[in-house]
Amino acid sequence: MSLRTDAVNHVSHFKPESPDIKSAKITGVFGESVFTTKTAREYLSDEAYKSLITSIKGGKKIDRTVAGQIASGMRAWAETKGVTHFTHWFQPLTGATAEKHDSFFTLKGDGTAIEEFDGATLIQQEPDASSFPNGGLRATFEARGYTAWDPSSPPFIIEIGNGKTLCIPTIFIAYTGESLDYKAPLMKAVDAVNKASVTVCNYFDKNVNKVIPTLGWEQEYFVIDEALVNARPDLLQCGRTVFGFTPAKGQQLEDHYFGSIPERVYAFMRDFENESYKLGIPLRTRHNEVAPAQFECAPIFEEVNIAVDHNILLMDVMTRVAKRHRLVVLLHEKPFAGINGSGKHNNWSLATDTGINLLAPGKTPKTNLMFLTFFVNTIKAVHDYADILRASIASASNDFRLGANEAPPAIISVFIGDYLTKVLNDVETRVGNKFDEQDEAILKLDLHRSIPELMIDNTDRNRTSPFAFTGNKFEFRAVGSGANCANAMTTLNSIMAETLKTFKADVDGLIEKGEKKEIAIMQTLQKYIIESKKVLFEGDGYSEEWHKEAAKRGLPNIPTTPLALDAMVTEKAKKLFETNHVYSHIELEARHEIELEKYLKKVQIEARIMGDLALNHIIPTAIKYQNELVSNINGLKAVGLPETSYSSQLAILNEVTAHVHVIYTKVNELVDAERAADRERNAIEAKLEAMK
Ligand code: ADP
Ligand code: MG
Repeated sequence: MSLRTDAVNHVSHFKPESPDIKSAKITGVFGESVFTTKTAREYLSDEAYKSLITSIKGGKKIDRTVAGQIASGMRAWAETKGVTHFTHWFQPLTGATAEKHDSFFTLKGDGTAIEEFDGATLIQQEPDASSFPNGGLRATFEARGYTAWDPSSPPFIIEIGNGKTLCIPTIFIAYTGESLDYKAPLMKAVDAVNKASVTVCNYFDKNVNKVIPTLGWEQEYFVIDEALVNARPDLLQCGRTVFGFTPAKGQQLEDHYFGSIPERVYAFMRDFENESYKLGIPLRTRHNEVAPAQFECAPIFEEVNIAVDHNILLMDVMTRVAKRHRLVVLLHEKPFAGINGSGKHNNWSLATDTGINLLAPGKTPKTNLMFLTFFVNTIKAVHDYADILRASIASASNDFRLGANEAPPAIISVFIGDYLTKVLNDVETRVGNKFDEQDEAILKLDLHRSIPELMIDNTDRNRTSPFAFTGNKFEFRAVGSGANCANAMTTLNSIMAETLKTFKADVDGLIEKGEKKEIAIMQTLQKYIIESKKVLFEGDGYSEEWHKEAAKRGLPNIPTTPLALDAMVTEKAKKLFETNHVYSHIELEARHEIELEKYLKKVQIEARIMGDLALNHIIPTAIKYQNELVSNINGLKAVGLPETSYSSQLAILNEVTAHVHVIYTKVNELVDAERAADRERNAIEAKLEAMK
């Protein structure tokens, strides 16, 4: 069965029941369904408002009485919007978001009905942790977990049909303290990179007190007509086709990228964008992607914590809004073989509380040195922890992109462009291996004179690199379209924190030995460039030559998830995450187990669907065709025609028969392999159980 690539353009008899979206200004609806600080000002007392603001900024915890006031204010606001229920909204390791709705409505002791939302309920809830993946934590630890309010991400209202629910962003932790979600570790990594960056920034600028990672994601997705998806059990259950036929016209004409958006998809886009604006998701860009029926959207970047929430919220909104248009959004990394897959580029940088983007070349020699410092430290972080970064994006579905010579490869390399390559060469080679004061002055001037050009000439984009510098940020392109960005962002910010800490220690060491601060910085950068330059690659990341070259350089190339995940539980990983207080040893082991389990289940479901389709759809169809051929041949024979007149039919019959045989044999092999894997796994599990 072939993918109807023209599906979204041509099934047009359906008129969407979506609300009429007037071409009003976006600013008119933006943030309408969000409890913003502005709304808070309106609905809270001075005391409650101040307390909320301090805690948003990462300050003091909110005490219970003030929490009570905040909760009442939130409810009062939500009720003006017709909200009846609330939920703690969190991101468990299933990959989806979780919510359990409770109504504001309750009964008092004397039976009177009232509406209530108290401080304790705002701060903490207890979903049953044992029903979410916890990778062995359940066995070793207390089964109960709780969700805790994260004031740094604003509450919002989700509208489904006529029902409206107030969602409180929370983190999800076990009673014994282990994190059971994506957000808690992310917040810890944000904290680690903040502390490490501030100490390094203070070499250059004493006014910096806080550094915040920023994230601007670009979300790729496919849109397919609902009726066509309903006809495919594989698309319905795995989000991708396991069998298919390459259509005559795929993406070979390269006519889809940036082409005009089909009308039906356009209506859908406007609808989900409008919903997103209400939720404060600052979408900015929409366009066609390379493959037929593939599209992309991207927001204005935000603080990483908020950007992660907004991305996962957007995926949810898109999926729901698509139904109104009788469309289905596929967020799978590779729904169809033979055409491009989908990624989620994570544009990442670090911003100071003084308004400086640390990965943007500066305006003065001093800020340029600060830029160079953060730039080189990022390269070193990726070089030193490439395996852990690779593990952070590993999933069964992303393997189809990373392992398949498609954008981007499983080899983690960094693209920096011609200009910065020259700058780094310059730093590396200047005066043998040692900097002196004169060198420093010259280099700083050189840097200053030429780096600003970079902003203009950042056109030499390399689309094949998994990690590319794009003028004022790095773009981590290997993240999967269906992934929660938090995983990649937790790792990236953790490795950055660790590298900057080492950098600070190295520079301070040289200063203690009597070196001038800026010389010490330059010498350390020079050393880092030499140590990590093998991760730099400017060529075609898809090419066979790169695979060979990368192997020669000793860069890891791990195409499959189970092996890639091993990097999460090495001594190196444990040390990295433990010293930065992101994951304990036990949390890492648990996450490793959860990710492996997810992989296994995904592959298992695909194998079952494959068996089902082959045995119950493909072979029966083939047999019907065989029967038709047989009766056709017999008929021609019966009327006395010579064998030459049905020789083609005989040839086709032979071919179909051979195919049926191959399919049947292969499916049996697949089932046997599945059973063998099951037996092996059960044996391992039994052994582990016995060891407890
Ligand atoms: P493209 O990569 O498709 O050319 P852009 O370069 O315009 O697109 O930007 C892609 C994304 O990068 C956008 O979401 C944008 O907001 C984000 N971005 C820009 N600057 C930063 C930054 N300093 N930190 C994080 N993301 C950023
Ligand atoms: Mg991009």
